[in-house]
Amino acid sequence: MAEGIDPEIARPAFAGAQPLETVQRFSTAQPEFVTPIWDYLAFLVDDQRVADGQRMFDQYAATLAAIEERFGVDRHVVVAIWGVESDYGNERGNHFLPHALATLVCAGTRRQDFWQGELMAALRLVDQGDLELNELYGSWAGAFGQTQFIPSTYARLAIDFDGDQRRDLVRSIPDALASTANYLSRAGWRTGEPWLIEVKVPRGYRGPSGRENKASLSTWATRGVRRADGAEIGGERRAGLLLPAGAAGPAFLTFANFDAIYSYNHAESYALAISHLADRIAGYPALRTPWPTDDPGLSRAERRRLQERLVASGYDIGEVDGKIGPKTRAAIRAAEQDLGLEVTGRAGKRILNSLGG
Ligand code: CA
Repeated sequence: MAEGIDPEIARPAFAGAQPLETVQRFSTAQPEFVTPIWDYLAFLVDDQRVADGQRMFDQYAATLAAIEERFGVDRHVVVAIWGVESDYGNERGNHFLPHALATLVCAGTRRQDFWQGELMAALRLVDQGDLELNELYGSWAGAFGQTQFIPSTYARLAIDFDGDQRRDLVRSIPDALASTANYLSRAGWRTGEPWLIEVKVPRGYRGPSGRENKASLSTWATRGVRRADGAEIGGERRAGLLLPAGAAGPAFLTFANFDAIYSYNHAESYALAISHLADRIAGYPALRTPWPTDDPGLSRAERRRLQERLVASGYDIGEVDGKIGPKTRAAIRAAEQDLGLEVTGRAGKRILNSLGG
C-alpha cells in the first residue's frame, strides 16, 4: 500500500494468506533425474498437441494473420508457444499468485528481491485495471495466463490487441498471442527468416557445434552438413549446429529466430520443442533421425495408457492422469523388478511395451 496499491486490492490479496506448502516444496525440489531430451520432446510435441495446434491455427486464423502483419513474427511459432506454455490455455496453473509469491518472498531463502518485484508487479496489474484479483492464478513461480508470462514481463510487454483497453493475457486469446509476438519481436525476431532445419552430419562428426558457434550455410556444407531430406544447403545465412544427443542423434541448424525463441525460457530443449512444434503445426513431418536410445519417450496418450496398464497389472499409481509423479515412478520400478527389467523408474516405451503396449 505504501507503493500506491489500492487497499481495496491489497487487503483481499492477502486475506487469510498462509505460506503455501506446495510452493515451498517446488522451489526447493531437486529433480529426481535429468529428463532426457527425447522424453521432453515426446511429451511436448505429441500428435495431440500438433492436432490441437492446427485446430487453434484455423480457429484464430484472422487474429493470427493480423498479429503477423503487425509484429512480423511467424504465426506457427506464436501458436506453438501457446501450446507448450499452457496447452492452448488448458494448463495455466492453480496457485493464487499473491500467496505463492508472498511465500517465496517471506518463507523462501533466495532471490527475495526478485520475488518481491514480481509480487508488486502482479498487484499493479490489478491496480491499473488490466486484470481482476481473482484472475491471478498460475504456476508456483508466478508465470500465468495463456502464455505464462511472469508479472514483470507482463507489465513490460503485454499488448491489448482486442481493443478493450485492458491487457488481458488470462481471458483474451488475441491479447495473449499478440503479446507473445511482441515478446519475440523485441527479442530480435527477423521477419521471413527460418528458425530451425533438421540436418544430417557426417558419421562420427567431431567438428564445431553449439547454438552460438555460428557459421554460414555454405561453411556448414563444406563440413559435410546436409538437410535431413538429403538436399544441399548453401548461402551466407548464419546458423549454429545443435546436437542435443550427440552426433549420433538428430541434428539441427538453428538461426537467429531460434535464439529469439530461446530467450523466452533460456533453454535449448525448450526452443527446440517450440521450433519443432511450429514446424509440425505447419504440416512438416516428425524428425527423420531417431534419438539414440532403445527406450524412447512417451506422448501424453501413451503416458495415460502406461498408467492404465500398471493399474490393470495391480500396481497402485493413484489417479490415471497422464502425469508421471512419484507414485507412478514407484509403480514402474516395482513393475520393472517383477518383469526382470533394469530398474529405472522411467516412463518410456520399454516398460509400456513390456506391459502390453
Ligand atoms: Ca484486451
